[in-house]
Amino acid sequence: KVVVLGSLNVDTILQVGRFPEPGETLALKDKQMAGGGKGANQAIAAARSGAETSFIGKVGTDANGQFMLKQLLDSGVSTEYVATSKVADTGQAFVMLENTGENRILIYGGSNAELNEDDVNKAAEKIQQADFIVAQLETPLETTKYAFEIAKQAGIKTILNPAPAVKNLPKELIQLTDVITPNETEAEILTGVTVVDDASMKEAAQRLHKMGVQTVIITLGSKGVYYDDGDVSGIVPAFKVHAIDTTAAGDTFLGSFSSELKPDLSNLKEAIMYGNKASSLAVQKMGAQPSIPTRKEVLK
Ligand code: ADP
Repeated sequence: KVVVLGSLNVDTILQVGRFPEPGETLALKDKQMAGGGKGANQAIAAARSGAETSFIGKVGTDANGQFMLKQLLDSGVSTEYVATSKVADTGQAFVMLENTGENRILIYGGSNAELNEDDVNKAAEKIQQADFIVAQLETPLETTKYAFEIAKQAGIKTILNPAPAVKNLPKELIQLTDVITPNETEAEILTGVTVVDDASMKEAAQRLHKMGVQTVIITLGSKGVYYDDGDVSGIVPAFKVHAIDTTAAGDTFLGSFSSELKPDLSNLKEAIMYGNKASSLAVQKMGAQPSIPTRKEVLK
C-alpha cells in the first residue's frame, strides 16, 4: 500500500530538432499533451506495478483538473484525497524535447502550490495504514513535512524524491526521511559532492546518512542506480536500451520501486532492479504517463 503526496501537471510536450538559442525562434516538429507532474507520475507507476495506491494532491476547477483525475483513475490510483482549489488552475508543465531525448522543462505550479495541512488531515488514516508514503518537492514543503510526521508517528516508512532540486532543503524534512532518491544533480545540490565515481557516491551517501537518512538511492540515468544503507552499497546497472524520451524516467523508477519494496526494505536490491526494468521501458516511449509500464510489461 503506497500513498503518494505530490504534484499533478498537464504536460505540453514541444518536440524540437534542437533547443532554440536565446532570441532565436524555431518551428516545432510536433506537439502533444499528456498527464504528468512528478507526484501523479509516481502514483501511476506504483499503481501500474500493482500497489494499492492513493494520491494526496490538488487540482483546479478547470478541464485540466478533470483530465488529471481521469488519468489517475484509469491507472487504478484512488483520487479520494485529491482536493480542488478554487483559486488556482491545475498545474502545467511545458516540456521542450530534443531529438536526442534531452529535455528542458518549465513549470506552472498552480493548484499544486495550494496543497495544505487540511488536505493531509483528511488523508491521515490512509497514511497511517500505508506501507510507504512517497513525496517530491513540487508541492509545499511544510505540507510534506506534516504528512511525514503523521507517517513517522505511525511507524510508516517515508520515501523522499528530492526533485526538482531545491537548495537548503529543511533539515527537519530530511530527518523525517527513511529513503531518499536524488538523481546525480540533486545529490550534488543536497550534499555539495559532485557524483562522478564510486568514491564520490559513497561520500554523498555518507553525508546524507549524517543528515539522518538511513537509505540513500542515487539514480544515475543510463548508468543505473547507486544504493547505500550504511551496511551495504553498490550499483545496480541500468538496462541497455535506445532512449527517445527520458521524461519521467526517475518517476517511473521510484513509483515502481516503491510498489516492489517490502516495508522492512529487506529486498532493496531486487526492488531497484525492478525499478530499473520499469524505467528502461519508460524511456523508450514518448511522454510521462503514457510511457509508464504495467507490472505485466515489466516482468515480460
Ligand atoms: P531523473 O529522470 O530523475 O533525472 P535518471 O535520469 O537518473 O532520473 O533516471 C532514473 C532511472 O531511469 C535510472 O536509474 C535508470 O534505471 C533509468 N534510465 C534513465 N535513463 C536511462 C537510459 N538512457 N537507459 C536505460 N535506463 C535509463
